[in-house]
Amino acid sequence: MSAEAGNRDCVFCRIIRGEIPSNIIYRDAEVVAFPDINPVTPVHILIVPVKHIPSLAELSDADSPLVGRMVRVANELARRQGIAPKGYRLTINSGADAGQIVYHLHMHLMGGRHLEWKH
Ligand code: AMP
Ligand code: ZN
Repeated sequence: MSAEAGNRDCVFCRIIRGEIPSNIIYRDAEVVAFPDINPVTPVHILIVPVKHIPSLAELSDADSPLVGRMVRVANELARRQGIAPKGYRLTINSGADAGQIVYHLHMHLMGGRHLEWKH
């Protein structure tokens, strides 16, 4: 199976393939975005590469433009959601100590209220 075809059992690959319902709010050939199922902020969106990359630790040099695209998509969605003027946070959890639970790379876009820092 190619990386592009996705991982059979991965929850985010299954959302991308339409096997699990989700409200996809952005999609292009490389990146999709959908609301976090358990939002912790008024705006909480996940920005996800179509390619199944388990975590930041598995990124290759060739993936660098993809990560840039994810940030640009997040910025655009923050603008569309109306949270850009007051600010927002982009977070990528990588590995157990960061609390990563879904091992398909994703960026959290969080905003819509004041966010505490740090914990
Ligand atoms: P983490 O791996 O720590 O970045 O967290 C994974 C995030 O994915 C959590 O915030 C979950 O609420 C979210 N999540 C898990 N399953 C789904 C799903 N089916 N649809 C949307 N978000 C999900
Ligand atoms: Zn996946």
